[in-house]
Amino acid sequence: MRHQHYIAGQWRASESGRVEPIINPATEDVLAQVAWGDSADVDAAVSAATKATSAWSRTSGRQRADYLRAIALGVAAERDNLARLQTANNGKPIAESRVDVDDVIATFDYYAGLAQDLDAAQDNPVALPNAAFEASLRYEPCGVVALIVPWNFPMVTTAWKLAPALAAGCCVVLKPSEITPLPELALAEVIDSVGLRAGVFNLVVGGGAEVGAAMVAHSGVRKVSFTGSTAIGGAVMKSAADDIKNVSLELGGKSAALVFADADIERALDIVCQGIFYNAGQMCSATSRLLVERTVADDFIRGLKRRAEAIVVGDPMDGRTTMGPLTTRQQYRKVLKYIEQGVAAGLHRVTGGQPVGQGKGFYLAPTIFADVPVDSPLWREEIFGPVLCVNTFESEQEAISMANQSEFGLVATVLTGDKERADRVSAALDVGLVWVNCPQVIFPQTSWGGMKKSGIGRELGPWGMRAFQEIKHVVRCIG
Ligand code: NAD
Repeated sequence: MRHQHYIAGQWRASESGRVEPIINPATEDVLAQVAWGDSADVDAAVSAATKATSAWSRTSGRQRADYLRAIALGVAAERDNLARLQTANNGKPIAESRVDVDDVIATFDYYAGLAQDLDAAQDNPVALPNAAFEASLRYEPCGVVALIVPWNFPMVTTAWKLAPALAAGCCVVLKPSEITPLPELALAEVIDSVGLRAGVFNLVVGGGAEVGAAMVAHSGVRKVSFTGSTAIGGAVMKSAADDIKNVSLELGGKSAALVFADADIERALDIVCQGIFYNAGQMCSATSRLLVERTVADDFIRGLKRRAEAIVVGDPMDGRTTMGPLTTRQQYRKVLKYIEQGVAAGLHRVTGGQPVGQGKGFYLAPTIFADVPVDSPLWREEIFGPVLCVNTFESEQEAISMANQSEFGLVATVLTGDKERADRVSAALDVGLVWVNCPQVIFPQTSWGGMKKSGIGRELGPWGMRAFQEIKHVVRCIG
C-alpha cells in the first residue's frame, strides 16, 4: 500500500522529503515509513480542495450518494485487511477492529442516504406571516474543511467526519493521527478506487504542530472538525478564531457508570468492564468513574475483580485476546504514572496496576482502584487507559450529583431495574449520550458529542451533516 500524502488525486512524497516510522505497539516493530508533511503539503492539499470545490459543491446529493455507497462497498471488500491493519497499527484486539470497520461501512451508507435526501430538501418554501413575501431555504456546503482525528479509533473518527462532509458537498483535507495513519492511508486507496474527482478528498500525514496547526490556520479552510484532547481542542478553537472559522470539537471525557442496587448485577458487571477495558480504556467515552450503590458495592467490586483478572491481555491478532497493548509508549508511561500516583496516595488497589509480559509491547494489566476520593486526580482527570476508579453513593440524588461533578460531559451509563429511575437519571445527567442497561452501542442515527469540556457540536445523525453546511434563505417580494 502507499505511504504518501494523497493530494489532488495523486500519491505524493512530502515537499521536504521527510519520512517517519510507524510502530506496531504489540511488537514495537516498524510497520512502515510514511511521508511526514508540513505547511507546504497542507498548502498543496488546500489548494487542490479549493480548485475542486466549485464542481463538487454543484453535484447533486444523488451523485454524491453514489460515491459514498461505492466507498462503503470498497471498505466492505477490504474488511479483513483493514481490520488487520488497524490492529497492527493501534493494538486493539482484532474483533474490535472488525467492529470499527463495520461502523465505517454503516456510516458511509447512512450518509449516502442523507445525501440523497438532500435534493428533495433544497429550496423548500418557508411559511411566512406576510403574503407579500415568499421565502425558501437552501443547505449549502460550507467550503473546504479540515478534518483532524486521533489514534484511538482511527478509521471510525475519520468516517464520522468524512462521510457527512462529502455528503454535504464539501472538499476535505484530512489529517489522520501521526501515530496511526495506516488505516486511513488504506481508506484513501479505497476512495481513490471509486473515482472521486481529484481534489475532493486530500490526506496529509504528519504531526499536529506541523500539519494540524497549519490546516487550522490556513485561510483557505472554512471549517475545522477536530477530534482529540481537550487541551489541543482549545488551541484549535483559538487559532480558528483568528479567521472566524467554524469549529466542531469532539474532546475528552471522564464519564460515569451508575450502578443501582436494583440492577441486573451480572449484566452490570459485563457492561462496566466493557466500558473501561474495551480498547484498553483508550476511549473518550470510557466510563472510567464507577458509582455503585453502597449496599451492593462490596459484592460488585469482588465481581469486577474476578472479571478484570479473567481478561486475556496479549497479542491483539490472536482471536482469544480480549485486551491488547496501549497504542504508544507515551500513553503506557502516562497511565503507569497515574497508577503510581494512586498507589503513592494510598488508594485501595483492587487489582492490576502492573505491566504485563516480559518482552516487547506496551501491555498493562486491567486496573481497579476502590474508594477513590472525588478530589483525586485519578477520579477527575482523563487517564485514557485501563484504569477504573470506584466510589459509592447512598441515594439517587447523590449518584446524579457525583456523576455531574466533572468538567467533562460526554456520556454516561445507567444500570437499574427501575424504568422510571432510569428516565429520571438520564434526564438529569449533563452528557450528550446515556446508555441505559446496555453496552456502548453507537448508531449512525443517534448523535455523538458532549457537553462542557467534552466538546462543541454533534457528530452522526443529521447533525453530523449540518455541521458541514451553511444555511441560506432567499426571501422574495411578490406583492
Ligand atoms: P491529541 O489532541 O493529541 O491529537 C488529536 C489530533 O490533533 C492528532 O491528529 C494530532 O496530530 C492533532 N494535533 C495535535 N496538535 C495540534 C495542533 N496544535 N493543531 C491542530 N492539530 C493538532 O489527541 P490524541 O492523543 O490523538 O487522542 C486522544 C484524545 O482524543 C483523548 O483526549 C480522547 O478523549 C479524545 N477523543 C475524543 C473523541 C470524541 O469523540 N469526543 C473520540 C476519540 C478521542
